[in-house]
Amino acid sequence: MTATTGTTGTTGTTATLITGANKGLGFETARRLVAAGHTVYIGSRDAERGRRAAERLGARTVQLDVTDEASVRAAAAAIEADGGLDVLVNNAGIEERGGGNAVIGAAEVTADLMRKTFETNVFGTVRVTHAFLPLLRRSAAPVVVNVSSGLASLSEVTTPGTPRYAYPGVAYPASKAAVNMITIQYAKAFPEMRINAVEPGFTSTDLNGNTGTQTVEQGAEIIVRMAQLAPDGPTGGYFDAAGPLPW
Ligand code: NAP
Repeated sequence: MTATTGTTGTTGTTATLITGANKGLGFETARRLVAAGHTVYIGSRDAERGRRAAERLGARTVQLDVTDEASVRAAAAAIEADGGLDVLVNNAGIEERGGGNAVIGAAEVTADLMRKTFETNVFGTVRVTHAFLPLLRRSAAPVVVNVSSGLASLSEVTTPGTPRYAYPGVAYPASKAAVNMITIQYAKAFPEMRINAVEPGFTSTDLNGNTGTQTVEQGAEIIVRMAQLAPDGPTGGYFDAAGPLPW
């Protein structure tokens, strides 16, 4: 798995968009890919938060709310006008929690909660991928990284005695299992692209009320690695930092 040599960006570098990159794992991924020489676009639903994050990293920014078709289309038009895209990291995600940061389990989950979670994690991933596909198809080395979760693994959540088995939530793991299936189907449809799902691991970010046990540096490791896949790298897979995960 060596680095790509895409040359789509206006500066002759690999052009990379990371959704939800104004903080957390997306921000850390942006930091590392800027250091690796990519032209990075920080996708942020709040333009000002995106501007501040991009300024800190020497990156570019684009306003992009994955639940808003118009904002996604405008972002695609702006990046196309700027020169195009080689790497898309679908990172924006939510995990709705209840009072005291409690995971919302089967007794409380509602169709509305499912819809809200899927709107960002699932439909957002498809909305952004669909909008950027024409740009990616013009890249010499197109790469898509879908930020999934270990909680998406049907094998793992059905293995008693593991933290994933014990996790009581419904909406979030269901949404990430859908992200895994989307990854597989896109990878089969576009064999010329490297399209993979990744599990960062339980990482301290706002998503989980900063209860995660890893640092963002550790969590971003697999995202950064898969964003830099060469055209002979794997596609249609599901990985954490230690290697392939069981579906
Ligand atoms: P985070 O710190 O809460 O960051 C989430 C990012 O997504 C923020 O930039 C947020 O923007 C953005 N976002 C949310 N809804 C959005 C929307 N509709 N449009 C655009 N951006 C939106 O969480 P994180 O832990 O870094 O999460 C990043 C990804 O890793 C998620 O897909 C998550 O499911 C996944 N993941 C995390 C862990 C973990 O333990 N942390 C484990 C496995 C997988 P705002 O600042 O505007 O809210």
